[in-house]
Amino acid sequence: QHSSPAQREFYQACEEVLLSLQPLLDTDPKYRRHNIVSRIVEPERQIMFRVAWVDDRGEVQVNKGYRIEFNSAIGPYKGGLRFHPSVNAGVIKFLGFEQIFKNSLTGLAIGGGKGGANFDPKGKSDNEIMRFCQAFMSELYRHIGPTIDVPAGDIGVGAREIGYLFGQYKRLTGRYEGVLTGKGLNWGGSLARKEATGYGTVYFAGQMLADAGQTLEGKTCVVSGAGNVAIYTIEKLQACGARPVTASDSTGFIHDPAGIDLALLKQVKEVEHASLARYAEQRGGVRFVPVSDYAPGRNAVWSVPCDAAFPCATQNELNGDDATQLLNNGCKLVAEGANMPSTQEAVSRFLDAGILYGPGKAANAGGVATSQLEMSQNASMQQWSFEQVDARLHEIMTGIYRQASETAREFGEPHNLVLGANIAGFRKVADAMIEQGVV
Ligand code: NDP
Repeated sequence: QHSSPAQREFYQACEEVLLSLQPLLDTDPKYRRHNIVSRIVEPERQIMFRVAWVDDRGEVQVNKGYRIEFNSAIGPYKGGLRFHPSVNAGVIKFLGFEQIFKNSLTGLAIGGGKGGANFDPKGKSDNEIMRFCQAFMSELYRHIGPTIDVPAGDIGVGAREIGYLFGQYKRLTGRYEGVLTGKGLNWGGSLARKEATGYGTVYFAGQMLADAGQTLEGKTCVVSGAGNVAIYTIEKLQACGARPVTASDSTGFIHDPAGIDLALLKQVKEVEHASLARYAEQRGGVRFVPVSDYAPGRNAVWSVPCDAAFPCATQNELNGDDATQLLNNGCKLVAEGANMPSTQEAVSRFLDAGILYGPGKAANAGGVATSQLEMSQNASMQQWSFEQVDARLHEIMTGIYRQASETAREFGEPHNLVLGANIAGFRKVADAMIEQGVV
């Protein structure tokens, strides 16, 4: 029921999941008997709070903070924190809802949660970021803990923010414990966490192709985003012999037909925190297209001809017309590094066209899976090597692909990984909810 227009993204995510679940609900009456659908769409707890902080001019600023603890049937709440001006309760709820099924698919003991604030980190000084993070944690700390709720990063929350958040948690509680993931490598972080979502998305794409008797070698790839997920998707694509030719950010996109210069991209986005326009200034043969030149309602990055597309920026960044253009240009695979980047219309077009389509909740689960590996390392006071973590990540992504594709086959739609991922993720959580009684 679309009773609140303010929660558009949440209803979109629910609609997709619930439509996929129909074949399961029709064949196994126990889920209806226990009213699981009505229970699973209702968060266990929603925390909304004021974040008041002082900017560099000495003025008091106020933001809205959120943590939605959605479902703990199979483990402590786990999911990122997003700092972006577009954050509202509906966005955090959609992300938390998706997280339930994604975390279930990893095969690890983690429940679903998500949080963030409508804070815009752009143009803020390092001290302002620190004061904001400290103010945010001054409320959040009372709700989280290593066996309760373990937040991580997302858009606008990277290693720097996790550091400030952790420092404040420690100051307030006096406890040094694995309450956040994505930590620095010399204070409890895991090797390969930074790379995990992007690498995992490429491993997932590799599995889809392997089943079709193909590889990524030589494929031209279009990637959106220029943040954590996009950069490490590009890195792994290059390692697999593919040729990623685009990246995008909030200012526009670059098309580099010779293949993205990863060192330059990292310099511009990770070190200088500049616009992609700067990448084009530094390298010949590159086209930068500003957002103001995009056709209305369209994302021009999807107009570049490719064999495979990797949306890695944000939700609803690829609509039905973008999907049609990708298909007309010969795109045969879409693997989502971002959460819900394709609108429902776009997803339908991909599925109708019969191309390989890996939905975000399956394809980008490598990040949260590796976060859980960080929790394991913290709990056992160990640090695993990069190769050990990467091997586990690869194994987990292969497992997720198998579960989604086998479940899709079980329900008679072998190519529909949306259906496969949703049913497989739901079944495990729903069974746990039933076994734990009405709570
Ligand atoms: P980052 O903040 O590191 O990067 C996000 C990138 O996308 C930036 O380049 C940003 O542009 C661009 N972007 C963000 N919002 C918009 C927008 N509204 N319009 C245009 N461009 C935009 O975030 P992540 O890479 O961590 O996250 C990207 C996606 O992946 C999100 O959907 C997130 O939920 C998902 N995800 C992330 C995981 C992780 O481990 N980090 C795990 C699983 C999913 P600019 O540089 O100008 O800010």
